[in-house]
Amino acid sequence: MAYQALYRQWRPARFAEMVGQELIVTALRSQVKSGRLAHAYLFCGSRGTGKTSAAKILARAVNCENPQDGDACGECPSCKRMMGDQSFDMLEYDAASNSRVEDMREILDTVQYPPQFGRYKVYVIDEVHMLSANAFNALLKTLEEPPEYMIFVLATTEPQKVPATILSRCQRYDFGRIPAAQIAARLAEAARGAGAEATEGALMHIARAAEGGMRDALSLLDMCIGYGQTVDEALVRRVLGTSDRRFLFEFAEALINEDAAGVLSLIDRLMTDGREPAVFAREMAAHLRSLLAAKTCPDRFGDLMDLTPEIAASYLGQSETVGSARLISMMDLFLAVDSSLRYASSPRIVLESAALHACLRTGEDDTAALRERIVDLEKALRGLQEKLASGAFVPAADAPAAKPAAPAPKAAEAAPKPSIAGDAKSVWDAAIKLLRVQAPGLTGMLIRGRIVSADDHAFCWESQDANFNTSYITGEKNRQLIADALTAAAGVPCTFSAAGPAQKAGEAKKADDLSDFFTTFGAANVQVQDK
Ligand SMILES: [Zn+2]
Repeated sequence: MAYQALYRQWRPARFAEMVGQELIVTALRSQVKSGRLAHAYLFCGSRGTGKTSAAKILARAVNCENPQDGDACGECPSCKRMMGDQSFDMLEYDAASNSRVEDMREILDTVQYPPQFGRYKVYVIDEVHMLSANAFNALLKTLEEPPEYMIFVLATTEPQKVPATILSRCQRYDFGRIPAAQIAARLAEAARGAGAEATEGALMHIARAAEGGMRDALSLLDMCIGYGQTVDEALVRRVLGTSDRRFLFEFAEALINEDAAGVLSLIDRLMTDGREPAVFAREMAAHLRSLLAAKTCPDRFGDLMDLTPEIAASYLGQSETVGSARLISMMDLFLAVDSSLRYASSPRIVLESAALHACLRTGEDDTAALRERIVDLEKALRGLQEKLASGAFVPAADAPAAKPAAPAPKAAEAAPKPSIAGDAKSVWDAAIKLLRVQAPGLTGMLIRGRIVSADDHAFCWESQDANFNTSYITGEKNRQLIADALTAAAGVPCTFSAAGPAQKAGEAKKADDLSDFFTTFGAANVQVQDK
């Protein structure tokens, strides 16, 4: 008996056997049950997500003589007849290889003949977006007035290329990528069926590499079983080689960590595996682009890139370890590899050079890096402010504001009293940064004084100015605002009070002395708003 590929063996014959796409399956079954069928369906989704399988099962279910809860029974003469790939009542048409209007007309001519055995004729048009404009027009004419017994299922990976006139006549279903865990479960069945032993880790690895496509996953398992009846993670890794997405993550991690030795050894692995430097550089540029997308729109990233939640999470995780400016400059370096290769005698050296440049940041403009850090800080501040405003506080553990970046008012150093503990000072500095955005006027006053005690998170502030009237600062609203900022910065509830004016001779700092700020930020960058 000829060997049948696993993905053929495990192709679902009934809705009940389909993995993933539960919502779509439920909707189709209920339509079959109620008999309220559409004349045209559009099944969209990436490869291997079950579009064609669902279309064929639909064809069987609508013609089944003994349907069970909207599903094909798989036993009746009609089901048996339609189990083969082609029958007169079901036709699968590949638009990718028959895109011309003449091919389409030939098919549409047969629509006029009623079904031979069953109640419905089901035509499945794969890769429908490949049809020529004329072929689409011919199809549209039929879709406008289809015979009662006719059902079209148009399947496509690129619905945006299907004309609106066609789309408007179809009931559309979007097939999502199948979660890795569900794929792994089906792989386990398939491995058992093939008499192979496979570890859970190996199957998960295959499932992840297949990126939500069952057909690819089963083909990969097939390849692994070809090496032997025991499939473990080491074997999977060998079969996948460096084409694995995990390799791209590993490579990017080495770049981000500025690990030049790691980068060179990964390139060595690539070359040993016989990979093309140009192809890899393109893949790497695409990977960096995905990280950039994850960074710019983290909420919609998974949907935008059509990724499984697991893979989207990996991108989001890695994107947090690197700034956007650096991602862009690294991406440019890998994109440039392609054109440099045309004139290079050693592709490997071109790739190594680009990778090392990306890794060691030699080309990076310091100002750009600085700008990026400022943007990050501003973003963190805004987040904290929003939390402040909503009354929800975050623990200080990794709140960026807890790290003092601005110089502390020098007043504390000049104080003759023992200065408050270091972390209380950094909490104060962070709170000042929060307030600076929210209440610049108030902050202008606060930085003319200092914190003299912070026992049990009760911060006590003292003015440097003998004649300073503390009533503005200690007014209910401002006192609460300052206490909230302190609480946000410290991560624990804090209170705030102001002590009377300090009058020790020689202690007072000149009120207009902003030289510390000018020195730190550069005079041009300091804008005095509240004098
Ligand atoms: Zn049946």
